[in-house]
Amino acid sequence: MAALNGRLPLIAGNWKMNLDHLQAIAFVQKLAWSLKDARHDFTTVEVAVFPPFTDLRSVQTLIAADKLPIVFGGQDVSAHDSGAYTGEISGAFLSALECSYVIIGHSERRTLHNETDEQVAAKVSAALKHNLVPIICVGETAEDLEKHGPSAVPVAQLRAALAGVDTAADIVVAYEPVWAIGSGQAATPEQAEQVAAQLRSVLAELLGQDVAGKTRILYGGSVKANNIAGFMREPNVDGALVGGASLDLTEFANIVRYQKHVGV
Ligand code: PEP
Repeated sequence: MAALNGRLPLIAGNWKMNLDHLQAIAFVQKLAWSLKDARHDFTTVEVAVFPPFTDLRSVQTLIAADKLPIVFGGQDVSAHDSGAYTGEISGAFLSALECSYVIIGHSERRTLHNETDEQVAAKVSAALKHNLVPIICVGETAEDLEKHGPSAVPVAQLRAALAGVDTAADIVVAYEPVWAIGSGQAATPEQAEQVAAQLRSVLAELLGQDVAGKTRILYGGSVKANNIAGFMREPNVDGALVGGASLDLTEFANIVRYQKHVGV
């Protein structure tokens, strides 16, 4: 059961480089139990985790064996299918592990690995080719915000990322202001809504109203159990990409359960 706008809210936990495969199994098992105990209805809020690559097979096996209603994905993908690309992971491999999603263009990859808009676009195309839903991350730095305002950089990044995307594509967009990631200083719901609305207009312009209406736009940046409700009340925010708080079981479960503990 999706929200009134037809978009199923998505709460996605980006573990970054945390939890090995044994810790991953324990975490996903406890998360599923805790949400089940709390009678979380997964048909009203989808829950996804993004473990490190080395955990994916273990997470896949657990989820399949116990039929857990949690989906998962990779934190990055190669633009290439196979070949001499040491250290890279093909979308074909992620697909074979039953990943549903893949995070692309996270600000840590753009900054620490110098990923360009062109590389992000190539990775988005690779993800779609392998039936993975790309979660395309866009967001401005504090300096961008001061110089260009909140929307200019995320809008430009989204335009670039959609270069090879056609109108039938299933994608998710994550607006993550870089200044809000891991800083404890989240954007306000109004700020997130303002940029999310702009991003949705770009989707409408480039991919048509239908895709724009169906595409989920997440907010990310210091999301916690005590601020998620404000974001979820905004009409253009359809979920959250959660970093630090996704590693705390109780906190993450409470973010997933935002409808219950805050009465949204
Ligand atoms: C992220 O890394 O995508 C993120 C949003 O991190 P945090 O929630 O820790 O700010």
